[in-house]
Amino acid sequence: MGDKADDKSSVSPKAEPELNMERTTPAESPIIVTGLESFTFHKILGEGGFGKVMLATHKASQQQVAVKMVKKRLLLNISRDEILIERQVLEMTRKSPFITRAFATFQSQDYLFYVMEYLSRGDLIDIMSTNGPFPISATRFLAAELICGLQFLHSRGIIHRDIKPDNILLDSTGHLKIADFGLAVMNIFGDTKTSGWAGTRLYMAPEILQNKPYNTAVDWFSAGLVIYVMATGRHPFYRGEICRALEAIINDDPVFPNEMDPQLKAIINGLLDKSAESRQKFVENIRDHPFFMEINWTDIEEATACPSFQLPPPPVMTSDTMKDVLCFTEANNTPIDETGQNLFCGFTFANEGWKVIESIPKPIISNRRPVKPHRRTFGSIVKDAFHRIWRRIKPWK
Ligand code: ADP
Ligand code: MG
Repeated sequence: MGDKADDKSSVSPKAEPELNMERTTPAESPIIVTGLESFTFHKILGEGGFGKVMLATHKASQQQVAVKMVKKRLLLNISRDEILIERQVLEMTRKSPFITRAFATFQSQDYLFYVMEYLSRGDLIDIMSTNGPFPISATRFLAAELICGLQFLHSRGIIHRDIKPDNILLDSTGHLKIADFGLAVMNIFGDTKTSGWAGTRLYMAPEILQNKPYNTAVDWFSAGLVIYVMATGRHPFYRGEICRALEAIINDDPVFPNEMDPQLKAIINGLLDKSAESRQKFVENIRDHPFFMEINWTDIEEATACPSFQLPPPPVMTSDTMKDVLCFTEANNTPIDETGQNLFCGFTFANEGWKVIESIPKPIISNRRPVKPHRRTFGSIVKDAFHRIWRRIKPWK
C-alpha cells in the first residue's frame, strides 16, 4: 500500500507468523469464561464513543482475543432492547466471515464485556495512517467484501448506521470485518423505514442529516464514503470545516481526483446518490458492475479469495500485562441498583465452543458521590471519530 499503483504481490495467509487464533482445548471441552479473571490484558487496541477495546489472552486456552468493555452507566437511560442490540446482532451474524466474530459476552457490576476475535491489522484509519490510501486492487477487494458484509446484514433486517473507517477492520490475512453494532437497528425489512439521528456526522447519509425516515440505503451512502476514503485517503466533502461538509453531503456532487479510475468513480457516484431510492436500485446490480469484473463473488462470499495487496507488517505481539484492568474497571462510584442491573438481564451469551459461568459481583459500597448517568450524546458519538479524521486524514488540497 501507499501508492496508487496496483500491488500484485499476494500475501499468503500462511506467509507470516500466525497469531494464536485457534482453540487449543479439545472440541468437547468449551473455553470457559468466569469473568475478567479468565483473561490477561495486554494493551488498548482502540477506543470509540462507547467503549474501550483491549488485547487480551484467555488464560486457560491461551487464545488471543479482543475484549470490548462498555460502561453500564453510559447505558442506564436507554431501553433494554437498545442495550441488547449489539449483543443480539453479534449472535445473529456469527456465521458471516465479514462481521467481527463474538465468542462470548459477560458482565460485571459496572461493565459489559464482548469477547471477540482479535483483528490484528486494526481499523482502516490505523492502516491508512501508516500506509496511506489503498491501491485500486485492494480497494476493489475490500469494497467487494464490504458489499458482502452489508448485504448479509441487510438481508437479515439489520442497518449498521455507523459504517466508517474506524469500524472497518482487517484480520491478520487482510480480510475485512465490520465491527461495532452499538448503533444498529433491527427488523428493517422491505419498505419499512426507521428514523432517528444516529451515526457519525461525516459519514451520515443526506436523509439522516435531514431528519427524514430512512432504510438500509443509509449504510450504502456511508460505504460509498468509506470506499472513497480507502482509495484517496481523503473525505470527498470534508475540506476542513465540518458544517460545510455536512451541507455538501446534502447538496453537492463529490469531487474526484482526476487520476481516479472511471469505474471506481462510477461505483462511488452510485453509492453517493442523494436519492435513497436510486441508491438502493444501484446497489441491486452492484455485483455486475464493470468495476468488479475481475471479482469472483463465490470466492469472496466464502472468504477463500486471497487479498492481493501488501499488508502492513503484523504488530509485534506483546506479552506485557496490564495489571490494573480489574481495578480500573471495578473501582467505581455508587453501585448500580437492582432496577439498573435488570436492564442488562439476558446480555450474557456464548458462541459454539465457549461457555460463560457468570457470577455478577455484589455492588461495591463506596462513599464517593454518585455519577450522573448520561446518554451517549450526539457529541460523544462524533467526537472521537471526528478528531481522528481531523488528525489523520488531510483536508482536501
Ligand atoms: P465503540 O463502540 O466505542 O466505537 P468499537 O467496537 O468501534 O467501539 O471499537 C473501538 C476501536 O477498537 C475500533 O475503532 C478499533 O480500532 C478497535 N477494535 C474494535 N474491535 C476490535 C477487534 N476485534 N480487534 C482489534 N481491534 C478492535
Ligand atoms: Mg466504533
